[in-house]
Amino acid sequence: GEHVTRALTLASPEETHQLGVRLGGLLEPGDFVGLIGDLGAGKTHLVRGVAEGARVPRSEVASPTFAIVYPYSGRIPLYHADLYRLTGYDDLYATGFMDLVGGEGALLVEWLDRVPEAAPREHLRVTLAHAGGDARTLQAEAFGTRAAALLTAWLP
Ligand code: ADP
Ligand code: MG
Repeated sequence: GEHVTRALTLASPEETHQLGVRLGGLLEPGDFVGLIGDLGAGKTHLVRGVAEGARVPRSEVASPTFAIVYPYSGRIPLYHADLYRLTGYDDLYATGFMDLVGGEGALLVEWLDRVPEAAPREHLRVTLAHAGGDARTLQAEAFGTRAAALLTAWLP
């Protein structure tokens, strides 16, 4: 099929948030979104928007924990993972994360580039980068037909 990619500039945290809200309204069970980018690029900020768009109660998103995977319940189950502290696939496997892939929830995975093997064949990959001040660039790439449909709906 068609290889769908997108690139845009986000001028402010609010823009990033709103883009996340829109993605949160589109996610379906089984979706996998990998988030890549340096510290402070805006991965978590985007996920907070996604959680709002998926109607996760704000109190859940604020819940402080040191787990690798944060479960949220909204319109659908959402799992927010951060692979920053992991050393590799074996480490990730031990967390039980792989049991969630392709399950009844949608996964948002920060630092996917740390453990690329964590991604299923079909997934959406989003890369954020600093672009001076509050500007960020966002690049998205769809792998598989569902991810292509999701990306096309998210960023027409
Ligand atoms: P990451 O999870 O990628 O390490 P965070 O989302 O935790 O990054 O932090 C991003 C920081 O950058 C936040 O403090 C946020 O307010 C700030 N910021 C400034 N401009 C933007 C933007 N355009 N999009 C997202 N965050 C931004
Ligand atoms: Mg983060």
